[in-house]
Amino acid sequence: MTQAILEVNNLARSFGAFQVLQDVQFQVDKGDIVGLLGPNGSGKSTLLNIISGFIAPDRGTVLLDGKCISSMPTFRIVKEGLARTFQLPVMPQKMSVLEVAMAADTSMHGVMSTLVRGASIRKAERDTRERAMHLLDELLLTRVSHLPASAISGGQKKLLGIVCALMARPRLLMLDEPTAGVHPNLRQDIVRALHRLNEQGMTLVIVEHDMHFIREACNRCIVLDQGHIVASCKPLELTSNERVVQAYLGTGGASASANANANANANAETVTP
Ligand code: ADP
Ligand code: MG
Repeated sequence: MTQAILEVNNLARSFGAFQVLQDVQFQVDKGDIVGLLGPNGSGKSTLLNIISGFIAPDRGTVLLDGKCISSMPTFRIVKEGLARTFQLPVMPQKMSVLEVAMAADTSMHGVMSTLVRGASIRKAERDTRERAMHLLDELLLTRVSHLPASAISGGQKKLLGIVCALMARPRLLMLDEPTAGVHPNLRQDIVRALHRLNEQGMTLVIVEHDMHFIREACNRCIVLDQGHIVASCKPLELTSNERVVQAYLGTGGASASANANANANANAETVTP
């Protein structure tokens, strides 16, 4: 029997009078690759921000391996085994790609590692460098590892964001639109890299619009529309699911607003097979 690694219960969040998430409830089983879909503005990034501790929910709980993490700060959630990447990664100006990857190793942080540079610290630094170089290689960034992280392309910054998240050795990795802005030739490599991570035991939650990517990468999908979960199904069932089609095409029900129609126009191309 599979076991839930992530449980989200009755999550709600508003910004001012705008209810962004309402009664959001789902679970992710260990070993799953779950696609999180929904039109622009449906609340996907807000959901990731809450799960990863960047913002607090108004209501509801998040459990990682049965342990409540919803009131923990982000750095503790990362240490508990949950890491995430960002939709629009921002990189520091004066660090190289390799340095940024090394700085993401949470086990290296602390006053002692700064003050005491003994043999064990130097060995830990060597290990961190080796692991960072290995992950940069896996995500096809070896060629640019010496460049300033702020100077690489938007797609490469996405890949570096994945490397940084992996440096924390997460059991659950959540990715916010990992292929948006990435050259099409690289997408297949990203799918392969994510499958390799999954084969090594990592559970993945991926926010993504690209249906081809979803079909190739994911074994289950959750669809958000205007802050509500409207579907939980297999990728191949998406296009025959009425609630999903309504969410993207903005016809009927809660999706009939002008806003939803604008979202549908922006997304229809990516969700229609
Ligand atoms: P998605 O990732 O699905 O495109 P988001 O979670 O980014 O959607 O945003 C959902 C809605 O919440 C959008 O209408 C957005 O403008 C709004 N929103 C997100 N973050 C904030 C914030 N910090 N303050 C006010 N509104 C926000
Ligand atoms: Mg988003």
